[in-house]
Amino acid sequence: MDKGENTDVVARLEDVRARIAEAARAAGRDPGEVSLIAVSKTFPAAAIAPVLAAGQRHFGENRVQEAREKWPALKEAHPDVTLHLIGPLQTNKVKYAVRLFDVIHTVDRPKLAAALAREMDKRGRHLPVFVQVNTGEEPQKAGVLPGEADAFIEQCRGEYGLNVIGLMCIPPVDEEPALHFALLEKIARTHGLEKLSMGMSHDYETAIAFGATHVRVGSAIFGPRPTGMAKS
Ligand SMILES: *Cc1c(COP(=O)(O)O)cnc(C)c1O
Repeated sequence: MDKGENTDVVARLEDVRARIAEAARAAGRDPGEVSLIAVSKTFPAAAIAPVLAAGQRHFGENRVQEAREKWPALKEAHPDVTLHLIGPLQTNKVKYAVRLFDVIHTVDRPKLAAALAREMDKRGRHLPVFVQVNTGEEPQKAGVLPGEADAFIEQCRGEYGLNVIGLMCIPPVDEEPALHFALLEKIARTHGLEKLSMGMSHDYETAIAFGATHVRVGSAIFGPRPTGMAKS
């Protein structure tokens, strides 16, 4: 990667930061309430380095295996990084996830909640988690269904003792995201949950208007992902 690409990525990062602050102010919110998670999936450490150098400290990855290849060295060099798991988590990867990640955004079923609780107890590493809600009720998408969210959130907090700090959603690509953001906010409010992980490159400003506290932005910072690897 040459200097020009580094300059581009830093300019895009600054632009996203400015838009976040503007969207927060427009919504009458403190820009400091919104954390930008730079989603670095599919990008190598060399592409992440300039973003780290520009002071960005929250990063998101969607695959445990890929994160295990990239992040141990980067975290050693930057111990103040917060690494967010934003992709589906299989129970057989829970032990690696709890070791490497700092926040899990994708708790969506009892078996996973139980496995996470067990591993966190074992490691003495009680990570904050989000419950993922499948607001669009899409069969292929992860997340607890909205109708089952109340019971599942209670179960995560009660039976499993997880530190649930908020809710996460990924709206259907072909629908107005605002409706999904509003639904997520409503469910969170019912449970007194303050954090909302919602909003991606194309809709993070809308998400902020609806109360997002964590926006997950990939391509608007890093540029387009290599095709075929752009799985979300
Ligand atoms: C890839 C991904 C993002 C970032 O998507 P962009 O459109 O590139 O901003 C956000 N959230 C999740 C869960 C993802 O998998």
